[in-house]
Amino acid sequence: MKALVAVKRVVDANVKVRVKSDQSGVDIANVKMSMNSFDEIAVEEAVRLKEKGTVTEIVAVSCGPAKAEETLRTAMAMGADRGVLVEAEDLQPLAVAKVLKAIVDKEQPQLVIVGKQAIDGDNGQTGQMLAALLDWPQAVSASKVEVAGDKVKVTREIDGGKETLELALPAVLTADLQLNEPRHTKLPDIMKAKKKPLEKTKPADLGVDTASGLKVVKVSEPPARKEGVKVPDVATLVDKLRNEAKVI
Ligand code: AMP
Repeated sequence: MKALVAVKRVVDANVKVRVKSDQSGVDIANVKMSMNSFDEIAVEEAVRLKEKGTVTEIVAVSCGPAKAEETLRTAMAMGADRGVLVEAEDLQPLAVAKVLKAIVDKEQPQLVIVGKQAIDGDNGQTGQMLAALLDWPQAVSASKVEVAGDKVKVTREIDGGKETLELALPAVLTADLQLNEPRHTKLPDIMKAKKKPLEKTKPADLGVDTASGLKVVKVSEPPARKEGVKVPDVATLVDKLRNEAKVI
């Protein structure tokens, strides 16, 4: 069984992002970039399925600038067999889903695992749109995945409990935090990953039009928090809540 995983290059989760002065987006110049955290989980799950003998080949796909090759190399160091870099910048989720569909049509995987969301745009749309474009069943926010024959059983944490779904393969899954803990890559694996095959292509070569009907109007920082005050006793606190904040 072939598995396809989508990995996005995003600002590292530990970086405090800054908004560009013209409010057109987040400043990524000289900022540490990494694989999107949920995509590490997606890759880890595919690798575990390969280690179990369920999956035989893992193809990692990234849409992004030339530097997204690093993200693909990380996926390959974790255990993906090869990478596909689709060179394009600032694609919206629908455009990414269209690109992924074109690659799925070509590669014919039985299982596609993407992250539940990219931590930069927090869209949480790509997996769902891809499943719709392919007309495949989908299970989002997976916290447990079990493949048996031509079916996959997926557990999802939902409000107040768990839901278990059974999907006929081929299917699209999106990975949630509880699914697994991604492995750290070791130097020999990083070295091996440098030699794994990496194909480069462009949306136009895949016949995909990435034009979008969506425009980011403005990106702004959250308002700065006002300084707090210390109150000497409970009576003063109650008085302030009642007469100043007017919340009680
Ligand atoms: P989003 O819908 O943008 O929150 O992204 C959800 C998931 O889709 C991510 O976790 C990735 O697995 C995948 N994805 C989104 N954008 C890209 C991209 N540019 N390249 C590769 N995968 C992507």
